[in-house]
Amino acid sequence: MKVLKFGGTSVGSVENMSNVKNIINDGEKKVVVLSAMSGTTNQLVAIAQNIAEGKPNEAIDKINKLHETYFTTIDSLLNNDQINKRVKDFVSSVFSFLVECTYKDFSESLENHIVAQGELLSTYMFNSFLNQEGIKSALLPALSFMRIDEYNEPDLNYIEKNFKEVFNNAIDSQVYITQGFICLDDSNEISNLQRGGSDYTATIIGAAIKADEVQIWTDIDGMHNNDPRYVENTKPISNLSFDEAAELAYFGAKILHPQTVTPVRTDGIPVRLKNTMNPNAFGTLISSETTEKGIKAIAAKDNITAIKIKSARMLQAHGFLKKVFEIFETYTTSIDMITTSEVAVSLTIDDDSNLDKILFELEKIATIEVDKNQSIVCLVGHSIVNHQDTFKLFQILQDVKIRMISYGGSNNNISLLIHSKDKVKTLCKLNDYLFELVTL
Ligand code: ASP
Repeated sequence: MKVLKFGGTSVGSVENMSNVKNIINDGEKKVVVLSAMSGTTNQLVAIAQNIAEGKPNEAIDKINKLHETYFTTIDSLLNNDQINKRVKDFVSSVFSFLVECTYKDFSESLENHIVAQGELLSTYMFNSFLNQEGIKSALLPALSFMRIDEYNEPDLNYIEKNFKEVFNNAIDSQVYITQGFICLDDSNEISNLQRGGSDYTATIIGAAIKADEVQIWTDIDGMHNNDPRYVENTKPISNLSFDEAAELAYFGAKILHPQTVTPVRTDGIPVRLKNTMNPNAFGTLISSETTEKGIKAIAAKDNITAIKIKSARMLQAHGFLKKVFEIFETYTTSIDMITTSEVAVSLTIDDDSNLDKILFELEKIATIEVDKNQSIVCLVGHSIVNHQDTFKLFQILQDVKIRMISYGGSNNNISLLIHSKDKVKTLCKLNDYLFELVTL
């Protein structure tokens, strides 16, 4: 069985929902994971924010507007009067709940309840649409099987067991619709898999049921070889290995949630990225296979902070790095890039919420320099460390100020740290010389 995940734009309009219906209605049994309709989660986050800031009227305004948008969509999607009314009743109950939330004190738990509504709405509507169209579909509530543990990792045994149970209760169905993104935490409270988490839901389910394939349907023809928001003429990459895809997703390729491939890579379950608006395009196939060598893709991650830790005590001493890492460990801050010299170590973090505390501790053992507004540009491919293109990098980037380089950490990745103001220029130059074959 396959697991197909459709993103916000795929369920964001009546026309796109109709495309999704055609894609999934091929006679094969399948699990379908849906995001919230595009824009909804952002609105729900903004509503929670208004409540947190003590602005309930602004929240209610947003709730009413969103409610109206849903009614308009329902009227063009559902022409069966009975189904139309049933869905409107459900949608109204969700919006009444949201209005009730505006009378409550803000808490993280309240926010989690609020942002969970987007997927509950989209799946209810879409399942009803399929029923109207005569497709045998069933709604499997994600909150009855999707759970994370105390470390925010998917609780695979629980998920496997409970998914089977809800699935078997609807064994005669053809299409099994479920919510992406939302889950329970280890205390059985509503939580989520972080923004963009529906991709992760799909691969977690894929791993739990040992799916033949997981398909992630979005509004672009697969993973591109550079960031289409900043670079012209980017192209879809047809094949990527799990390692390559993981690096790209983590280092900024917005198309995939960073954790997406983690659950399926051990079992080698392929992940296919497809375009709902252009289903015949090949897209990107992520699998255990590695194909041609060389740099395949470039991505960039912003809001990086670089920290240089310099200490005479590091000279020919052991245990210095241990002390440094322990400080980051204490403040649960993960390190992305790291380079060392004999007297200094430079590293980067993307979560600077504990930066002050970390610096306070580091200053006890070393001299510290901090650079904010940095970007990691990450080059990804197969065997790139020894590839001829790699040796051109210094020449291509001779007028870009490179703050750090990470080379040789893996065969799949070279990372460069630059100031964010140089990011677009760097991405475009790399694109011209590496992919458009402009000669140096
Ligand atoms: N709806 C959630 C978000 O916008 C999850 C997802 O779409 O994957 O982040």
